[in-house]
Amino acid sequence: MTVKAYGANAATEPLQAMDITRRAPGAHDVQIDIAFCGVCHSDIHQVRAEWAGTLYPCVPGHEIVGRVSALGAHVSGFKIGDLVGVGCIVDSCKHCDDCDAGLENYCDHMVGTYNGPTTDAPGHTLGGYSQQIVVHERYVLRIRHPEAQLAAVAPLLCAGITTWSPLRHWKAGPDRKVGVVGIGGLGHMGIKLARALGAHVVAFTTSESKRAAALALGAHEVVVSRHAEEMATHAKSLDLILNTVAAPHDLDAFLALLKRDGTMTLVGAPASPHPSPQVFNLIMKRRSLAGSMIGGIPETQEMLDFCAEHGIVADIELIRADEINYAYQRMLMGNVKYRFVIDTATLAA
Ligand code: NAP
Ligand code: ZN
Repeated sequence: MTVKAYGANAATEPLQAMDITRRAPGAHDVQIDIAFCGVCHSDIHQVRAEWAGTLYPCVPGHEIVGRVSALGAHVSGFKIGDLVGVGCIVDSCKHCDDCDAGLENYCDHMVGTYNGPTTDAPGHTLGGYSQQIVVHERYVLRIRHPEAQLAAVAPLLCAGITTWSPLRHWKAGPDRKVGVVGIGGLGHMGIKLARALGAHVVAFTTSESKRAAALALGAHEVVVSRHAEEMATHAKSLDLILNTVAAPHDLDAFLALLKRDGTMTLVGAPASPHPSPQVFNLIMKRRSLAGSMIGGIPETQEMLDFCAEHGIVADIELIRADEINYAYQRMLMGNVKYRFVIDTATLAA
């Protein structure tokens, strides 16, 4: 079926309206009429070929929510009309250790929601800045939030799970002091989720203007990371730092804030490397520098259910599809509170 989408034909071109095709649902497929799609900084990195290997046309979008509109003959877990979501994963090998562990995100054959290998036209996957998507049922998530919150649920499918997974893995919770660096789409979810898990949350921002906002999001304390004396008040005190910054920066300034055995996990994925940290900053307190990539399907469902139960959604700015290039400019200036979400009904206009 032909559907309307927004995408780019080259790294140097703005996104524009285009028609794409979706396969008819196979036996295990769920066809979803997309209602909203969040805008992740990874979309900018990939559509502009800042990471290796972008294929064109590139239709980004991996924070997808909508309603089931058709089902393959063997799908048992969903029915037409269900509210569902799709995140960053639309396929994987389904039988390796990672898939068996529900960590499809680490499967060597994980297929991204866009720019991944597929036999569907045009030979690579096309994402959620579109009216419809067809996905194997294993990678479809159930949404239990009220429908009125649907647009603000969309960012949970990437920003939510990408912060939830490391927070859970490194045991954010009561009696743990957790830092969240960078208050953008990921960072604002990291603050909300770490707070809801019971941790003492310290937000680190380069933007003086986000000080009050970070407290409103749930941080107990806020540090403007450009101020060395403010940073020093947290020296050797944090159990975990979740670093979401989308650009290379000095990691040592944050490593010095970890207590003995503390971990800083990088989730921000800048196009060029960070300056290498000082080895002594790691060995002196047995600190760890780690990374984490999105999350598996079962933990994504766990996060969505936790958020539904605790009334957690993203703070969003709803945009029309034809505002996407302007939205990218604002994200690059750190000027979004805190996630743009495309109303895909505007694709039809
Ligand atoms: P975003 O909304 O643009 O937020 C990034 C934040 O980083 C900014 O709001 C800003 O916060 C801070 N920042 C400081 N200096 C910056 C600079 N020079 N350039 C850009 N940001 C700067 O981005 P996002 O959607 O949260 O994504 C953040 C990063 O995570 C991206 O690199 C993205 O590709 C990556 N990501 C990784 C995964 C994964 O699986 N690991 C998943 C999704 C996204 P302050 O104003 O508070 O300083
Ligand atoms: Zn993302």
